[in-house]
Amino acid sequence: MVTHNTLDAWRSQFNLLFNTISDGVIILDHTGVLLRINPAAAGMLRCTPEEIYAKPPDSVFGDLPDLLDLLLGNDPLTRHVVLPANRIALGIAETQPEGGRLVVLQDITEREELDSRREQLIATIGHDLRNPSAAIFGFAELVTLYGPLNAEQDRFVARIAQTATKLQHVAYSLVDLAWVESGMPLQNLPVDLGQVIEQAIVGLEGEAHVKQITITLEVQPSIVVMGDAMRLQQVVYNLLNNAILYSDSGQPILIKAIAQQGKAQVSVADHGIGMTTDDLDQIFTRMYRAESEAVRNVPGGGVGLTMARVILKRHGGSIKANSTVGEGSTFSFTLPLAT
Ligand code: ADP
Repeated sequence: MVTHNTLDAWRSQFNLLFNTISDGVIILDHTGVLLRINPAAAGMLRCTPEEIYAKPPDSVFGDLPDLLDLLLGNDPLTRHVVLPANRIALGIAETQPEGGRLVVLQDITEREELDSRREQLIATIGHDLRNPSAAIFGFAELVTLYGPLNAEQDRFVARIAQTATKLQHVAYSLVDLAWVESGMPLQNLPVDLGQVIEQAIVGLEGEAHVKQITITLEVQPSIVVMGDAMRLQQVVYNLLNNAILYSDSGQPILIKAIAQQGKAQVSVADHGIGMTTDDLDQIFTRMYRAESEAVRNVPGGGVGLTMARVILKRHGGSIKANSTVGEGSTFSFTLPLAT
């Protein structure tokens, strides 16, 4: 039974929370006028509770259209709100069952700034690395032309050229990743996943052949998703390229694709070196590479899986991996089917 004492306790707990949390809270009554605003929201919106009390939202917040959308709507709504003084909040609004509306504002200015600074930094590093690494590669080639070099010198120059090529590759991948992450427009056309997979295989036939790796395909026909065929091909290419790179000679690879419950499900399974659970937690993070000797012996920049995750996310899909050290790995991704 709810007694007066319990109600009083709830009220004082609510008041304590309402007055002290750092998220802003605004409450409208069932007639749609402003009822309460907590100190955090008042600070964000540069107003006082007295100024807003019993007023219609558009008479007080007329210059904040995002906030008005949240306050005046009927449905649950989440959106970014531009606040005074160039701050930005994530706003969440819901109409209460007994009438009235509740809006919560979370100030995310610092988080947003950090994200955009991080992206800028990566793009800058990418650009700044490209030219010097091309120059190093060019001069390494010139040294051999202007020889003669002894065997040792020849080996060292070859290492310089190899490292410069790797650096250039990482720089290109980082710039590309920054582009896709920053919202570069992607195509949104029907894409046959079977064709995408076959194209990716064509691009890696040489590598598979050199390592005598057989690639088996079990792909259901006509799996169609909406998206950017080149970018989806890049996802399959990156997964297959890794499966080849991190397998020994002769270890087979199986690619499966099925349509199930409104989703396309694709998996790339290898019998290669596998990964620890610690690695599995981090491989989709930019520039992460496993510590093992076997991985360090393979050239790579740790960007391929991050790119795959970002591309799939932008298509409304997701990716995960299972793996056992010494037994192999399976990467699986899903995408919504075209309707
Ligand atoms: P890269 O392969 O260039 O290092 P990725 O982002 O594609 O970058 O992969 C990140 C890391 O995940 C790799 O360095 C490796 O440690 C691990 N990894 C990815 N694919 C596999 C695989 N098929 N088998 C074992 N380890 C893998």
